[in-house]
Amino acid sequence: MISAGEVIERPAAAVKELLENSLDAHSSMIDISYSEGGKKLIRIVDDGWGIPSSELALAVESHSTSKFVEDLSEIETFGFRGEALSSISSISDMTIKSKNHDSEDAFEINIYAGKVGNIKPCNIQKGTSIEIQNLFFSTPARLKFLKKTNFETRNIIDVVKRAALGSPDVQFILRDITFSGKEKIIFHAPVERDKSHRVERIRRVLGSEFIENSLEINYEFKGYRLKGHISLPTYSKPSTSNQYFFINGRIIKDKMISALAKNGYNDFVSNNKFPVVIFFIECDSSLVDINVHPAKLEVRFSSSEDIRHLIITGIKNSLLKNGLKPNTDLSNRMFRSFTKSYQNFNILSKNKNNNFDSIFENKKDKKNLLEDFDKKNINWYSGSVEKVDEDTSKKPKIFDLGIARAQIYKNYIISQTENSLLIIDQHAAHERLTYEKMKESYYDGKIKSQSLLLPEIIELSISDKEIILENSSKLKKCGLELEDFGENSICVRSLPAILGEVNIVSLINDILKELASFETINELDKRIDQVLSRISCHGSIRSGRVLNAEEMNHLLREMESTPASAQCNHGRPTFIELKLLDIEKLFGRK
Ligand code: ADP
Ligand code: MG
Repeated sequence: MISAGEVIERPAAAVKELLENSLDAHSSMIDISYSEGGKKLIRIVDDGWGIPSSELALAVESHSTSKFVEDLSEIETFGFRGEALSSISSISDMTIKSKNHDSEDAFEINIYAGKVGNIKPCNIQKGTSIEIQNLFFSTPARLKFLKKTNFETRNIIDVVKRAALGSPDVQFILRDITFSGKEKIIFHAPVERDKSHRVERIRRVLGSEFIENSLEINYEFKGYRLKGHISLPTYSKPSTSNQYFFINGRIIKDKMISALAKNGYNDFVSNNKFPVVIFFIECDSSLVDINVHPAKLEVRFSSSEDIRHLIITGIKNSLLKNGLKPNTDLSNRMFRSFTKSYQNFNILSKNKNNNFDSIFENKKDKKNLLEDFDKKNINWYSGSVEKVDEDTSKKPKIFDLGIARAQIYKNYIISQTENSLLIIDQHAAHERLTYEKMKESYYDGKIKSQSLLLPEIIELSISDKEIILENSSKLKKCGLELEDFGENSICVRSLPAILGEVNIVSLINDILKELASFETINELDKRIDQVLSRISCHGSIRSGRVLNAEEMNHLLREMESTPASAQCNHGRPTFIELKLLDIEKLFGRK
């Protein structure tokens, strides 16, 4: 038996246990109040089944539970160890008031640092109210470990939000009553009655912006079903605090699942970013052991391989299916920055003599200047504007990424769809395309390589040379042929054909960086995608290359047919969308 003695280490843990009790009692409303981060007071009122007066004193005894099943693997309630009320009441001043659903009267009991008082009648209409004052007052050593009020408060809010995500058919209210007379409602989620109540509850807890920038996930594998929402790769966060996992309705916080989620995003976000994910995993209760962690926050699956597949493949499928969904957060930021720039422009426009033609003596000067721009690579002038002819004006409907209209700053393609303007980062986009192509041909075992007319000799340090030669047969499979050239040199004979012209020295150095980060020599097979990703950066249309209309449109069409091309290999977005509606708003038309 796992003792739950260590379960209550901070106020939020008490809140979690009490919430679970209310949910187990089939409540439809749970009202939570706290004062000073729960250190002074926690009160939880529910409208559930209530506790019979004959069981009030029993409920706070150690190891006493009413949720008994023969076989622990069949347990469907949150609680089952009968430890929460006993451990909380032994270190606080607790009052329980309850009206059992088939009794006329309500009763209360007080437990003061474990000393159980007498049962008295009281006045409540329904359900149970549990009030905890001065948590840890009788264990000063523990009290010392509590953190600042803000920290404890944040933890309580997190616990309540997690519970609310898991139970959309229950109403939750969270109040801060630290300052008497100035009660603050921190969070309120009414019962979601809609068919899509789960989505609505997610919206309530995480906001509309998350819903807009997330995808549904729905996948099944060997008796496990995975549902929920996952963020667009470009909407990742710097920590894992926005990850929510439920196993058969039970809230868990599992590092393994978090690592698997990260794994699913491997190709799509950089190492220091983490996806926002909400997973509801359902399975037969025999496939998961919930009794392995004191706070019931971790579980053990009967097959970790199956779970691995479930999560990684589930994520990949969902990301690939929705490869081109634009990030609305970026659109909003663009909208806001346009709104601001409008104000800045006012200053410039006061300068009335800035007429383009008036600064040239004649037309020829103007032409020369524009040609000069081209020659001197002046970087704000580049690309070409395409004429709109009648036929193509219909086409933007057909293509998700529209028709390219222009290239600016030698790196950004401006394209027009039926109802939006897109800015595409050609370098980032092309990097993704090259990478996906390289991966595809690698796994088909046929990356084409192109021999160099003049093999390139590269000098390396002894250790670098060793690393690279150790991996040379594997690199050959990536289309890169190289061999020992004596002393401290290697000789590169051929390169992946897809790359075109590249700077070989910097390519080799980049591959070395990747190889050097491996812990064992054999890791290349496992991490081949990372190496391919590094290599593909080199073949990408670098920024600074002028593209003509055909090339630009070709790039857009390729993006549309390439999986997950809305972000480059490093998780940066490949395009941003500004809706026509927003353009109209900016001009005050809407
Ligand atoms: P467990 O939840 O593991 O049974 P607890 O110590 O959390 O153990 O609770 C002990 C018992 O008290 C529960 O089994 C339940 O019968 C009763 N109980 C606690 N809270 C409530 C509540 N809000 N509504 C109804 N019954 C409750
Ligand atoms: Mg319990």
